[in-house]
Amino acid sequence: MHDIVRDPVSYATLFKVTAEAKNWIYAGGFSQIFMLCDSNTVNYCVPQILHELEISPETQILVIPAGESSKDITQMMRLWEELKDHGADRRSLILNIGGGVVTDLGGFLASTYMRGIPFMQVPTTLLAMVDAAIGGKNGIDYLGFKNLIGTITQPAAIFLQPSLLETLPQDELLSGFAEMLKHGIIADASHFDALSQLTEVTPKSIAPYISRSAEIKVNVVGQDPYETGIRKILNFGHTMGHALESCFLKENNPIPHGFAVAAGMIMETTLSLWQKTCDQLTANRIINSIDRHFDRIDLSQLQPEDLLPYLKADKKNVSQNITYCPLHQIGKVSTDGVISIDEVIKVVRNYKNLCIEY
Ligand code: NAD
Repeated sequence: MHDIVRDPVSYATLFKVTAEAKNWIYAGGFSQIFMLCDSNTVNYCVPQILHELEISPETQILVIPAGESSKDITQMMRLWEELKDHGADRRSLILNIGGGVVTDLGGFLASTYMRGIPFMQVPTTLLAMVDAAIGGKNGIDYLGFKNLIGTITQPAAIFLQPSLLETLPQDELLSGFAEMLKHGIIADASHFDALSQLTEVTPKSIAPYISRSAEIKVNVVGQDPYETGIRKILNFGHTMGHALESCFLKENNPIPHGFAVAAGMIMETTLSLWQKTCDQLTANRIINSIDRHFDRIDLSQLQPEDLLPYLKADKKNVSQNITYCPLHQIGKVSTDGVISIDEVIKVVRNYKNLCIEY
């Protein structure tokens, strides 16, 4: 039997082989298994997981409506109640089967119910496979702020099953692909090269590279679970990317997270070039690769100044400075670079003009 009372800092076991994930569940001696999924993954993914992991069809399946609006306190209260009504105890296991919404919400559910019960992440979007399901950050949106309430609690295990991506819409696939490119840029030049050379992004073409991306995130988080140092490198592209994402959200015109990150990586690469932390060849390789896979976001309705309130409110800021992760070379970025307001304005104009101004 596994000891399910774990050191909260130790990171999860990453299962890439179905039989190993199945054995882990069976050896765990869990009193009950619950599955949390959304209104899409209940149809697209749950049947495959029930079959592959040989889980009893009588398992309790908890379903939330698909979409970010489910990451809220009302759903959370309903789920706490459902666990209680179905007799969940501290030896129950929750399988979170879905994209980042389900893995964030389910991680928070498990980490708060009875002060914490074990959970296994079963990510079903590319973004969740390489990012959201790994690292223990979970939570809900509250008072209009994303991820305002949550905990850092590591899952007991993560099960990667790339075949689940077959039903994922193409934009969702591309959104996760941006995070994979980021992993190459921050930690592994050969991973970046391999991804850059893909002529198309399909579930089959990216499947061989998913576990490398997941491992990069696991390794970084393992060194710094609470983001006091090296974990910050995962934010490459996210200072500008998050601000863009928030601007579009405010206009009720949300863009996929990864599309905003792709734009953010172009902008932060350009800033690194201007601040002379990287050379032109490096910047060109990154920007060309992103441009090959992502259309530039139409920013014609947006003034560069619109980003400033979000940049100034960024949780990552230090002493009121807007910070970012400067790029040095492919495979190496640092943390705590600073962006001036003038640079923000210039880099957004630069991106909009579709030209690189050195
Ligand atoms: P999502 O969970 O909303 O999934 C996107 C859409 O795809 C949904 O409609 C979902 O129902 C559908 N879907 C999921 N799997 C499917 C499949 N296999 N086939 C068909 N449809 C499927 O979005 P996401 O992009 O995966 O995650 C976004 C969330 O992740 C945000 O809330 C974000 O804050 C969070 N996030 C968390 C972290 C973290 O470290 N915890 C990191 C990045 C993002």
